[in-house]
Amino acid sequence: MTAFFPKKSLGQNFLVNPRTRDRIIRACDLKKDDLVLEIGPGKGILTYPISSWVQRVYAIEKDDFLARQLRSQLEGSNVTVVHADILRYPFIELPRRMKVIGNLPYNIATPIIEKVLTYRHQFSVFYMTVQLEYGNRIVATPGTREYSSLSCFVQYYAQPQRLFKIAPGAFSPAPKVDSCFMCLKLRQEPLWKAYDEGFLFKLIRSCFNQRRKTIRNSLATIYSTGETERLLCRLEIDPWLRPQDLSLKDYVRLANKEG
Ligand code: SAM
Repeated sequence: MTAFFPKKSLGQNFLVNPRTRDRIIRACDLKKDDLVLEIGPGKGILTYPISSWVQRVYAIEKDDFLARQLRSQLEGSNVTVVHADILRYPFIELPRRMKVIGNLPYNIATPIIEKVLTYRHQFSVFYMTVQLEYGNRIVATPGTREYSSLSCFVQYYAQPQRLFKIAPGAFSPAPKVDSCFMCLKLRQEPLWKAYDEGFLFKLIRSCFNQRRKTIRNSLATIYSTGETERLLCRLEIDPWLRPQDLSLKDYVRLANKEG
């Protein structure tokens, strides 16, 4: 048997705790007719129990050795193992209304989430394990230290919920930090729609890049000073607030210049 050494570059911290595995499976509320996309199945600790509950699993694994091993073990089952990079895989080839599940490779959590949210009309819900601190930023609300452009981006397209904390010892090798299991219920339509979503996120990023400035000053890279003052006055937003005090709805109003 070939020795297998986990690759840091692929974020390979494998789940080894059966109680955590069972908790994850229960939280995913799987149904007989579910179609599941699993991101990074690794050695299959989640893949096997998921497959026993649902209609079909598409498991996308970048590691050549792990993908081959899992494919040979699951031959003839309801699991399709694909050897591919999730960031390059054409989601358009997948069936619609799938559930997405993954203990994510932490180094590429953001591009994975961005991609799933971009293709949100194909999915209903995204269950994922991420670093605890990162998960806290996703669910953060205005006025808190963790509230960031990431919170706004995810909350625009989804309703995030932190389900439970996972200690480093649940994985091998153990990561240096705590993790958490989360659920993103994908919104088919945002609560407050921006006319130009690209512009909305440019505006949000630009404001949060200057968190210490007042909103009046941090908007200066987007609108002229006069325009900023008129807009804040018209929308009744206090110009002395800081970027982390504004709600997502406020940002949408600022981007739309109305509301
Ligand atoms: N699901 C397994 C578990 O819970 O033990 C493995 C989780 S491990 C944190 C992340 C997995 O994602 C690894 O198997 C890794 O090889 C895989 N992976 C890393 N980058 C990937 C990518 N770009 N596309 C697909 N899989 C990837």
